[in-house]
Amino acid sequence: MNEFTKTLCPYCGVGCGLEASPPAQHGKATNRDSQGTPIWRVRGDKSHPSSQGMVCVKGATISESLDKNRLHYPMVRNSLDAEFRRVSWDEALHIITNRIQTVRLTQGSQAICMYGSGQLQTEDYYLAQKLMKGCLGSNNFDANSRLCMSSAVAGYIQSFGADGPPCCYEDLELTDCAFLIGTNTAECHPIVFNRLAKYHKKNRHVKMIVVDPRRTPTAEAADLHLAIRPGTDIDLLNGIAHLLMRENYIDTGFIDDCTSNFPAYAEVIRHYSPEVVAHQCGISVEDLETAAKYWGKSKSVLSLWSMGVNQSAEGTAKVRTIINLHLLTGQIGKPGAGPFSLTGQPNAMGGREAGGLAHLLPGYRLVKNDQHRAEVEDFWQLPRGQISPSPGLSAWEMITGLETGNVGLLWIAATNPAVSMPDLERTKKALLKSPFTVYQDAYYPTETAAYAHVLLPAAQWGEKTGIMTNSERRVTLCQAFRQPPREAKPDWEIFAEVGRRLGFADKFAFRNSAEVYAEFVQLTRHRPCDMSGLSHEVLQAQGPTQWPHPVDDKFRDAKRLYTDLRFHTPDGRAKFAAYYSRGLAEVPDPNYPFVLTTGRLYGHWHTQTRTGRIEKIRQMHPQPFLEIHPRDAAALGIEDDDWLEVRSRRGYAKFPAKVTKAISPGTVFVPMHWGSLWADDAEANALTHSESCPDSLQPELKACAVQLIPISQA
Ligand code: SF4
Repeated sequence: MNEFTKTLCPYCGVGCGLEASPPAQHGKATNRDSQGTPIWRVRGDKSHPSSQGMVCVKGATISESLDKNRLHYPMVRNSLDAEFRRVSWDEALHIITNRIQTVRLTQGSQAICMYGSGQLQTEDYYLAQKLMKGCLGSNNFDANSRLCMSSAVAGYIQSFGADGPPCCYEDLELTDCAFLIGTNTAECHPIVFNRLAKYHKKNRHVKMIVVDPRRTPTAEAADLHLAIRPGTDIDLLNGIAHLLMRENYIDTGFIDDCTSNFPAYAEVIRHYSPEVVAHQCGISVEDLETAAKYWGKSKSVLSLWSMGVNQSAEGTAKVRTIINLHLLTGQIGKPGAGPFSLTGQPNAMGGREAGGLAHLLPGYRLVKNDQHRAEVEDFWQLPRGQISPSPGLSAWEMITGLETGNVGLLWIAATNPAVSMPDLERTKKALLKSPFTVYQDAYYPTETAAYAHVLLPAAQWGEKTGIMTNSERRVTLCQAFRQPPREAKPDWEIFAEVGRRLGFADKFAFRNSAEVYAEFVQLTRHRPCDMSGLSHEVLQAQGPTQWPHPVDDKFRDAKRLYTDLRFHTPDGRAKFAAYYSRGLAEVPDPNYPFVLTTGRLYGHWHTQTRTGRIEKIRQMHPQPFLEIHPRDAAALGIEDDDWLEVRSRRGYAKFPAKVTKAISPGTVFVPMHWGSLWADDAEANALTHSESCPDSLQPELKACAVQLIPISQA
């Protein structure tokens, strides 16, 4: 018998395959954590096509977090200033279902909200949709993917007629030009970057362009680093388009046969002359021309992006403007080419497939679409009209709904909004006003647990069998390899039990997660994300598999989408978008003269719920800091390690300075990982604002205006 169980890393959207074996194996040295406690042995899975055995420090140390600070029992309290008391599952679920019924009667289903996470498995997501959008008739299920990938979702839908990244990781090793914008891939998606960087190093003709206001480790590896001013991405992209058109690098055959709306786009691009763009972006005309030349002369161009593009008040416009460049040059549907968003979380993709945002339904359907609602209602055997035609509340709208009293019950699962939401002081005040908050998570304490009335202990990675989909549409069966501790339960079981107790026993009669997945994939049949040919059994037998994988066409090559150059729009054409740049939602002014940008570090994951408890990672990143350019530091009279108070219109935080030319003058950077459990007054999101993209409703977490005050003067 194989001693290793195959699973997937539960951190980022790269989705590296892992193998886990028990702490003590006959004849082998026992793995131990820094306190000497025996821990599970975890290694990269060489047979996983996405990662080929590679892991970064997070994947390599993940098992150290398995038993630390776990929530073991359901707990309840009557008010936020009371102590939690341990209760049985029966009592906790009785309290929750009673409260749901009361809110339905007094405020209506629209007052019930659930806020989930890309950490959930597809089965968890699917049953949450069935419960909320189907049985309860509330579309108020949103996930932290709203803060992460919703601009990419909206951009793909508007340009191609459907969500779904069209590329695969193999394209990293086939492209002639990698164009990375708004992504510090080396730190945030390390194994994707490893694959690209190795290939780039070996193949001298391959160009790598990195667009980022910071000189990140990713930018260090580039042939061309464009350190644009924050908020000028669309200027840059339109400027490159202008040069591609001027130098006749465009693919007129592709434009004529496969796209629509080109004249409107061309009219906008006319205004983006190199001189205007270079001035606006703060780069040289020569660098802009070099970028256009690299793109235009390459047989294949692959764009990669993540939060630097998506987390913007014009996030969807930025995504579509990237896609425009691919349409202009016919760079899609072939090896090494295409627009490729890198998802933040391990199953953000699965969440999208299962309908895990407030405007979606399972199988890449939209709640606004009459036919889509009817299809799901029929499948779930619900009366027509049961699913509301209005999108539910997005993540930030749930916060404002708490402020106005329109939210009567908030159920949070596997995420930590008391650190990750924008405008944290306002977020925390709203959470304090919540009449009833259920917090379902594997860990305790977290910053968000402090705002809960009921705590439900969830099984986590390695303790439940389920499905995750990574950034390249690869679906992996993650096998449980140990029991959940004490009374913790898989999330899907909790949702199913609540559904049964609310009177929907026939809709939640699942004996295991394989049955849940088997039902879900039927809802993907004939949809763009068709995975009707997949099941737990199939995935166990054939290993991680990319979709589409229809039941009647299982052997289709699913590496890339749109290889037939037909898109999911009504006319089958990809649509150009004509956008002028609007810039930042909050621009610097004499009172708040710096742009603050936020981001992630190599070792930490989001709000440190796991990584903060791993000694090796804590040593790697012991404390938060603020990167500042030497010119700005000199003007403020500060040096390395001097403390600065950072103030925005919403809040303040304080950090030691890291004086570095890696950041552009006028811009400062802080990591977003430190919540109130880990440091005093070091929350990046105490400073950020909630202005959001009108199409994707994704907040502009990446930039806000701040003032800097040396602590000695504060
Ligand atoms: Fe895990 Fe992402 Fe690191 Fe891979 S790159 S080991 S998925 S954190």
